[in-house]
Amino acid sequence: MNENILLVEDEQGLRQTLTARLKKVGYVVDTAADGVEGFNKAMDMPFDLIILDVALPLRNGFDVCRDLRQAGLAAPIVMLTARTQTVDKVVGLKLGADDYVTKPFAALELLARIEALLRRATIRSGQGLHEFGPFRIDFRRMEVTRDSTPIYLTAREFQLLRYLIERAESAISRTELLRSVWNYDTGSFTRTVDMHVSSLRKKLEKDPTSPEFVVTVPNIGYMFVGARKSVL
Ligand code: CA
Repeated sequence: MNENILLVEDEQGLRQTLTARLKKVGYVVDTAADGVEGFNKAMDMPFDLIILDVALPLRNGFDVCRDLRQAGLAAPIVMLTARTQTVDKVVGLKLGADDYVTKPFAALELLARIEALLRRATIRSGQGLHEFGPFRIDFRRMEVTRDSTPIYLTAREFQLLRYLIERAESAISRTELLRSVWNYDTGSFTRTVDMHVSSLRKKLEKDPTSPEFVVTVPNIGYMFVGARKSVL
């Protein structure tokens, strides 16, 4: 099994119990104790599934869920809600959650939901595949392979790659990338773009110092080159 799960839950007791339970059945678990830490971890590390509490400090689970979906994160999200009103469940599902469990719940129930969602995600991955040179990219599941070898990208790296690929053969400025991929209005973080391009190249390119796909356009920014072979 060994799927990676992010558990975002502020109640320490529940966080520890659930973590132990999930690890016991073979999942790799990382945790966050508030909405901001949860959002950042979900964006910067590749997870197969996210368990997201609704009532969280700093940022509530609904906002985190909505923002993750807007950012293009495709991993299944299970919301944990302490409230029993149907309206909360409907809101959660509308914002892009895949399922919810109402507290208090039996661990077995949550495990069953997780298993079902992971299975569904695997079946879904058969669609929406695109090939670019040696890369096969599944935009919906945020998965990339090079010559059939999986490449693990963070959500932000994936967004960056996607933005460049959708505008392949066009030079994209650092300012545009900051605005579109990071939602930054100012151009003063251009170093952020360079750092992420560098980590993307390390994962995608055979020789990151002489990139074939994510190339530098002097005085402008970056461009994805490499003809689109086919859409599967
Ligand atoms: Ca809570």
